[in-house]
Amino acid sequence: MLPVAAVEQHGPHLPIATDRMIAEYFAEQLNARLGASVLVLPTVAVGCSEHHMDFPGSLTLRHETFLSVCEQYLLSAHRHGFRNLLILNSHGGNRGVCQVFLEKFGAEHPDCQIAVVSWWRMVSNELFEFNESGPGGVGHACEFETSLMMHISPNSVRMDAIEPRANNTPTYDWAEEDLLRPSRVSLHRSMKQISPNGVWGDPTKANADKGKKIAEIVCQALSGVVKDLAKR
Ligand SMILES: [Zn+2]
Repeated sequence: MLPVAAVEQHGPHLPIATDRMIAEYFAEQLNARLGASVLVLPTVAVGCSEHHMDFPGSLTLRHETFLSVCEQYLLSAHRHGFRNLLILNSHGGNRGVCQVFLEKFGAEHPDCQIAVVSWWRMVSNELFEFNESGPGGVGHACEFETSLMMHISPNSVRMDAIEPRANNTPTYDWAEEDLLRPSRVSLHRSMKQISPNGVWGDPTKANADKGKKIAEIVCQALSGVVKDLAKR
Protein backbone atom coordinates (compact mmCIF):
# COMPACT_ATOMS: atom_id res chain seq x y z
CA MET A 1 0.00 0.00 0.00
CA LEU A 2 1.27 3.42 -0.98
CA PRO A 3 -0.18 6.34 1.02
CA VAL A 4 -0.28 9.58 -1.00
CA ALA A 5 -1.04 12.88 0.69
CA ALA A 6 -0.38 16.62 0.49
CA VAL A 7 1.57 19.32 2.28
CA GLU A 8 -0.73 22.31 2.15
CA GLN A 9 -2.52 24.94 4.17
CA HIS A 10 -5.49 23.71 6.19
CA GLY A 11 -6.91 27.03 7.37
CA PRO A 12 -5.96 28.74 10.62
CA HIS A 13 -6.66 25.72 12.86
CA LEU A 14 -5.07 22.61 11.28
CA PRO A 15 -1.41 21.84 10.43
CA ILE A 16 -0.09 21.68 6.87
CA ALA A 17 0.75 18.02 7.57
CA THR A 18 -2.97 17.17 8.02
CA ASP A 19 -3.39 14.98 4.93
CA ARG A 20 -0.15 13.07 5.60
CA MET A 21 -1.11 12.52 9.26
CA ILE A 22 -4.56 11.22 8.26
CA ALA A 23 -3.18 8.86 5.59
CA GLU A 24 -0.48 7.53 7.93
CA TYR A 25 -2.98 7.02 10.74
CA PHE A 26 -5.14 4.84 8.47
CA ALA A 27 -2.03 2.98 7.27
CA GLU A 28 -0.89 2.31 10.86
CA GLN A 29 -4.34 1.10 11.84
CA LEU A 30 -4.42 -1.21 8.85
CA ASN A 31 -1.01 -2.53 9.73
CA ALA A 32 -2.17 -3.16 13.29
CA ARG A 33 -5.24 -5.06 12.06
CA LEU A 34 -3.74 -7.03 9.19
CA GLY A 35 -0.09 -7.29 10.25
CA ALA A 36 2.35 -8.86 7.83
CA SER A 37 -0.24 -9.34 5.09
CA VAL A 38 0.13 -5.67 4.14
CA LEU A 39 3.36 -3.80 3.44
CA VAL A 40 3.00 -0.04 3.88
CA LEU A 41 5.42 2.02 1.80
CA PRO A 42 6.69 5.42 2.92
CA THR A 43 4.12 8.13 2.21
CA VAL A 44 4.37 10.34 -0.86
CA ALA A 45 3.87 13.33 1.41
CA VAL A 46 3.76 16.14 -1.17
CA GLY A 47 0.93 15.90 -3.67
CA CYS A 48 -0.71 18.03 -6.33
CA SER A 49 -1.73 21.22 -4.54
CA GLU A 50 -1.42 23.95 -7.17
CA HIS A 51 -4.86 25.25 -6.13
CA HIS A 52 -3.53 25.93 -2.59
CA MET A 53 -0.41 27.85 -3.60
CA ASP A 54 -1.90 31.27 -2.72
CA PHE A 55 -1.47 30.19 0.91
CA PRO A 56 2.03 30.08 2.45
CA GLY A 57 3.36 26.72 3.56
CA SER A 58 1.77 24.79 0.72
CA LEU A 59 4.03 22.67 -1.49
CA THR A 60 3.10 21.13 -4.80
CA LEU A 61 4.36 18.64 -7.36
CA ARG A 62 3.61 18.88 -11.06
CA HIS A 63 1.25 16.12 -12.17
CA GLU A 64 4.04 14.53 -14.26
CA THR A 65 6.34 14.47 -11.22
CA PHE A 66 3.67 12.92 -9.02
CA LEU A 67 2.98 10.23 -11.63
CA SER A 68 6.69 9.52 -11.91
CA VAL A 69 7.27 9.30 -8.14
CA CYS A 70 4.33 6.91 -7.66
CA GLU A 71 5.50 4.81 -10.60
CA GLN A 72 9.02 4.48 -9.23
CA TYR A 73 7.83 3.56 -5.73
CA LEU A 74 5.54 0.87 -7.10
CA LEU A 75 8.02 -0.42 -9.67
CA SER A 76 10.50 -0.89 -6.82
CA ALA A 77 7.93 -2.97 -4.93
CA HIS A 78 7.14 -4.81 -8.17
CA ARG A 79 10.82 -5.80 -8.56
CA HIS A 80 10.63 -7.42 -5.13
CA GLY A 81 7.65 -9.50 -6.17
CA PHE A 82 4.65 -7.43 -5.07
CA ARG A 83 1.71 -7.66 -7.49
CA ASN A 84 -1.21 -6.51 -5.35
CA LEU A 85 -0.95 -2.73 -5.16
CA LEU A 86 -3.18 -0.21 -3.41
CA ILE A 87 -2.83 3.56 -3.37
CA LEU A 88 -4.41 5.19 -0.32
CA ASN A 89 -5.16 8.83 -1.11
CA SER A 90 -6.03 11.47 1.48
CA HIS A 91 -6.11 14.60 -0.71
CA GLY A 92 -8.85 15.78 -3.08
CA GLY A 93 -6.32 17.38 -5.43
CA ASN A 94 -4.70 13.99 -6.06
CA ARG A 95 -7.86 12.30 -7.24
CA GLY A 96 -7.59 13.07 -10.95
CA VAL A 97 -3.91 12.27 -11.17
CA CYS A 98 -4.36 9.04 -9.18
CA GLN A 99 -7.01 7.94 -11.68
CA VAL A 100 -4.59 8.64 -14.54
CA PHE A 101 -1.91 6.69 -12.68
CA LEU A 102 -4.26 3.75 -12.17
CA GLU A 103 -5.18 3.62 -15.86
CA LYS A 104 -1.56 3.91 -17.05
CA PHE A 105 0.05 1.55 -14.55
CA GLY A 106 -2.75 -0.98 -14.78
CA ALA A 107 -2.50 -1.16 -18.57
CA GLU A 108 1.30 -1.36 -18.54
CA HIS A 109 1.43 -4.06 -15.84
CA PRO A 110 -1.27 -6.65 -16.52
CA ASP A 111 0.50 -8.97 -14.05
CA CYS A 112 -0.57 -6.59 -11.24
CA GLN A 113 -3.83 -5.87 -9.51
CA ILE A 114 -3.89 -2.15 -8.72
CA ALA A 115 -6.56 -0.09 -6.95
CA VAL A 116 -6.86 3.50 -5.73
CA VAL A 117 -8.91 4.55 -2.74
CA SER A 118 -9.71 8.06 -1.54
CA TRP A 119 -10.91 7.52 2.03
CA TRP A 120 -13.99 9.78 2.00
CA ARG A 121 -15.31 8.34 -1.27
CA MET A 122 -14.94 4.77 -0.12
CA VAL A 123 -17.34 5.42 2.76
CA SER A 124 -19.45 8.34 1.54
CA ASN A 125 -22.74 6.48 2.11
CA GLU A 126 -21.86 5.86 5.76
CA LEU A 127 -20.51 9.39 6.26
CA PHE A 128 -23.73 10.95 4.98
CA GLU A 129 -25.50 9.65 8.05
CA PHE A 130 -23.67 11.85 10.51
CA ASN A 131 -22.75 14.79 8.32
CA GLU A 132 -24.20 17.70 10.31
CA SER A 133 -23.02 20.63 8.21
CA GLY A 134 -25.14 19.84 5.12
CA PRO A 135 -24.31 20.66 1.48
CA GLY A 136 -20.96 22.46 1.16
CA GLY A 137 -20.05 21.61 4.76
CA VAL A 138 -17.34 19.06 4.04
CA GLY A 139 -14.57 20.16 1.73
CA HIS A 140 -11.24 21.07 3.26
CA ALA A 141 -10.20 21.56 6.89
CA CYS A 142 -13.91 20.94 7.40
CA GLU A 143 -16.25 19.03 9.72
CA PHE A 144 -14.64 15.69 8.75
CA GLU A 145 -10.94 16.57 8.51
CA THR A 146 -11.07 18.60 11.71
CA SER A 147 -12.89 15.79 13.55
CA LEU A 148 -10.30 13.26 12.39
CA MET A 149 -7.44 15.46 13.55
CA MET A 150 -9.13 16.02 16.95
CA HIS A 151 -9.12 12.24 17.31
CA ILE A 152 -5.70 11.45 15.78
CA SER A 153 -3.63 14.35 17.08
CA PRO A 154 -5.62 16.67 19.38
CA ASN A 155 -2.56 18.73 20.29
CA SER A 156 -2.08 19.83 16.72
CA VAL A 157 -5.56 21.36 16.41
CA ARG A 158 -5.79 25.04 17.36
CA MET A 159 -9.23 24.99 18.92
CA ASP A 160 -9.26 28.76 19.46
CA ALA A 161 -8.54 29.37 15.76
CA ILE A 162 -11.56 27.47 14.43
CA GLU A 163 -13.58 30.02 12.49
CA PRO A 164 -17.30 29.80 11.75
CA ARG A 165 -18.29 28.61 8.30
CA ALA A 166 -17.36 31.17 5.68
CA ASN A 167 -19.80 31.93 2.92
CA ASN A 168 -18.03 30.25 0.06
CA THR A 169 -18.13 32.35 -3.07
CA PRO A 170 -21.06 30.99 -5.12
CA THR A 171 -20.55 30.08 -8.79
CA TYR A 172 -23.16 28.04 -10.66
CA ASP A 173 -25.59 25.47 -9.27
CA TRP A 174 -24.01 22.79 -11.52
CA ALA A 175 -20.57 23.47 -10.03
CA GLU A 176 -21.51 23.35 -6.33
CA GLU A 177 -19.98 20.33 -4.60
CA ASP A 178 -18.30 18.97 -1.49
CA LEU A 179 -16.60 15.73 -0.41
CA LEU A 180 -19.91 13.85 -0.25
CA ARG A 181 -21.72 15.55 -3.11
CA PRO A 182 -19.85 15.62 -6.42
CA SER A 183 -20.83 18.41 -8.83
CA ARG A 184 -22.45 17.76 -12.19
CA VAL A 185 -19.71 19.77 -13.94
CA SER A 186 -16.09 20.32 -12.86
CA LEU A 187 -15.24 24.00 -12.68
CA HIS A 188 -11.68 25.08 -11.97
CA ARG A 189 -11.25 27.32 -8.94
CA SER A 190 -8.29 28.01 -6.69
CA MET A 191 -8.82 27.50 -2.96
CA LYS A 192 -8.54 31.26 -2.46
CA GLN A 193 -11.47 31.73 -4.88
CA ILE A 194 -13.49 29.17 -2.94
CA SER A 195 -12.68 30.51 0.50
CA PRO A 196 -10.67 33.49 1.77
CA ASN A 197 -9.35 31.68 4.88
CA GLY A 198 -8.52 28.41 3.13
CA VAL A 199 -11.29 26.49 4.91
CA TRP A 200 -14.04 24.96 2.79
CA GLY A 201 -16.92 23.74 4.89
CA ASP A 202 -17.80 23.94 8.56
CA PRO A 203 -15.15 23.01 11.14
CA THR A 204 -17.37 24.22 14.00
CA LYS A 205 -19.37 20.98 13.59
CA ALA A 206 -16.25 18.90 14.32
CA ASN A 207 -15.55 16.90 17.47
CA ALA A 208 -13.22 14.10 18.55
CA ASP A 209 -16.02 11.54 18.92
CA LYS A 210 -17.04 12.09 15.33
CA GLY A 211 -13.39 11.72 14.33
CA LYS A 212 -13.18 8.39 16.13
CA LYS A 213 -16.32 7.19 14.37
CA ILE A 214 -15.06 8.28 10.93
CA ALA A 215 -11.70 6.60 11.58
CA GLU A 216 -13.39 3.33 12.57
CA ILE A 217 -15.63 3.32 9.49
CA VAL A 218 -12.69 4.06 7.19
CA CYS A 219 -10.38 1.46 8.79
CA GLN A 220 -13.07 -1.20 8.60
CA ALA A 221 -13.79 -0.50 4.93
CA LEU A 222 -10.09 -0.31 4.10
CA SER A 223 -9.42 -3.67 5.75
CA GLY A 224 -12.22 -5.13 3.63
CA VAL A 225 -10.70 -3.75 0.41
CA VAL A 226 -7.26 -5.12 1.29
CA LYS A 227 -8.67 -8.53 2.21
CA ASP A 228 -10.59 -8.67 -1.08
CA LEU A 229 -7.49 -7.72 -3.08
CA ALA A 230 -5.51 -10.43 -1.28
CA LYS A 231 -7.95 -13.13 -2.47
CA ARG A 232 -6.45 -12.97 -5.94
ZN1 LIG B 1 -6.80 17.82 3.86
